[in-house]
Amino acid sequence: MKRLRIGLDLDNVLIDFYSHICDYYNARHGTSWKYSDLKSWYLEHTWGCSNQYVVDILDDFYHSDEHKLVTPIVGSTKAIEELSPSHDLFIITSKPDYLKKQTEEWLLNQYGDVFKSVHMINQYHGEGPRRTKSGVCEELCVDIFVDDHIGNTVEVADTGVKALLFDAPWNRVEIPQHVERAHSWEDVVLKINLFAESA
Ligand SMILES: [Mg+2]
Repeated sequence: MKRLRIGLDLDNVLIDFYSHICDYYNARHGTSWKYSDLKSWYLEHTWGCSNQYVVDILDDFYHSDEHKLVTPIVGSTKAIEELSPSHDLFIITSKPDYLKKQTEEWLLNQYGDVFKSVHMINQYHGEGPRRTKSGVCEELCVDIFVDDHIGNTVEVADTGVKALLFDAPWNRVEIPQHVERAHSWEDVVLKINLFAESA
């Protein structure tokens, strides 16, 4: 079995991020949104607010104590434990540079010292240079990439890298043939191991 270089998205793949951001939004607005209500990755489509409001509330959330207490996606702890001895794992997140230290501490606390490196691409917030996920995958020579955002998986798959779409309520639409849906972390492990055997 080939030792693979695996690129992993952070929010909604490792962190149960949209559950927590719904709680944060609900506390502010007296609403009761939950993970399963989110039929679009773009929170403004569900909440009926502006994109700028989403950008602002995410920034407030990142600076809050609640953000330090986010919990992992179901199944991810066991899956990372299974994958890390046989493969090299990298985190590739749209989050801003200013969250790097907090992110590394969270990953260490939840999964142990198993990730080779953490890459913040400053997609929506922060002052650091903006990069693309496909660009980082290329720099790291990633063999397989996992993300819940269809656009990110297509962008990476277009460069010839195997891409898995981590199933979520907001991505349950038809996807291009060169992207493969993974229905859970158990399914991610299965698909990664199959890919490693065929590589
Ligand atoms: Mg994500």
